Amino acid sequence: MPHWGRDLRPRQFAPATGGWVGRRVLRSAAALGLFALLPLGFAAPRSSRDNTSADIAARARAIRRHAIAVDTHDDTPQRMLWENFDLGHRDPTGNIDIPRMRDGGLNAIFMSIWTPGTLPPAEASRRAFQQIDLVREQVTKHPADLMLATTAADVRRARKEGKIAVLMGMEGGHMINDDLDLLRKYAALGVRYLTLTHGVNDDWADSSTDKPAHNGLTPFGRSVVEELNRLGVMVDISHVSDKTFYDALQVTRAPVLASHSSCRALCNVPRNMSDDMLRALAKNGGVVQINFHVGFLSQEYADATKANADRGKQSISDMEKSCGENEACQGRGYQRLSDEATAQGILPVVNWQRIVDHIDHAVQVAGVDHVGLGSDFDGAVMPRGMEDVSHYGQITEELVRRGYSDADIEKILGGNVLRVMTEVERVSREMKRAK
Ligand SMILES: [Zn+2]
Repeated sequence: MPHWGRDLRPRQFAPATGGWVGRRVLRSAAALGLFALLPLGFAAPRSSRDNTSADIAARARAIRRHAIAVDTHDDTPQRMLWENFDLGHRDPTGNIDIPRMRDGGLNAIFMSIWTPGTLPPAEASRRAFQQIDLVREQVTKHPADLMLATTAADVRRARKEGKIAVLMGMEGGHMINDDLDLLRKYAALGVRYLTLTHGVNDDWADSSTDKPAHNGLTPFGRSVVEELNRLGVMVDISHVSDKTFYDALQVTRAPVLASHSSCRALCNVPRNMSDDMLRALAKNGGVVQINFHVGFLSQEYADATKANADRGKQSISDMEKSCGENEACQGRGYQRLSDEATAQGILPVVNWQRIVDHIDHAVQVAGVDHVGLGSDFDGAVMPRGMEDVSHYGQITEELVRRGYSDADIEKILGGNVLRVMTEVERVSREMKRAK
């Protein structure tokens, strides 16, 4: 099926998968009790305060003034790699640049270091180093706006100085080329999470969108998780198979991250997390960062792409041919084709509030301490109303509208992932001391 976004693409285009149609679908109760004893008028103090949109906007602005908004997954390095993209100017295309991050109130961004899982290992690591250089260059080029961050304390410092913290995550264990020394080099250059797989299995872990080959994590895969803990690099379980996820939880000594995953209960695709997984993640102290990709947010959209696989095939193949290897061009191509198919009524419109539905669900199942945001900007198809990062602030308003407390909204916007980073850093110090 067409997935209309590169998040799932390598699976479908891997030679072994043979074409478009994937074999599987790829790609507060205590307070309520207390209030029940009070007359109704006293039971809902917030709704009486926030019943106008001006009130909601004002409260959201107040929250954003001291919150630290962290997004844990953005594919903009593909634009840097293929199009020499500079973050400094307001770009009419794509989802991310400094002026739009300022508009949306984003305070910290994890740039995704990504290569297709099907590249030869030497080429994958070469491109990974190139992207790390490009991200670091952008920070050097825009010192008034950006600061390289490798710790939670760095992120807080950047916020205090009015700068956007730039962090790096590596999306796909294949880029370490089965070599822990190479992993250490990436960590030394500032990489602060490793997604154990991308869309295809690597040599030591199964992906959610490939045929199981290792029954989860191999013994070497377990040693990768241990080394990540020791290095203070977050173990990212987005993209991995369910078995890999549970294996990683068994091995890790620190909380894990799902850098860009949504909820299977609302959209049943393998890339999303089941309620069982959400509960296990919460028990581990980890955090799930909700992905904005329409095909992960909406069951109707996921079903319609599957049902219309043949209709999309030709135009997707044409678009990909015209983009060649330029992944950034392909990313925009998927968005354009999805918009066209939506305008023709082939695919349903997915509105941005769906993101908050997934937040609600994850909060209900895992708890408010275990949910955050990992948009997949510049790498996925965005819902209507979330065309780029300048719309980010709407999420705060919607959380206010749905009755979340200021403290809980701050956790979701970034407090939770900063807690996980801090804990990962503590475990790393402990492990290094013990050696
Ligand atoms: Zn991804």
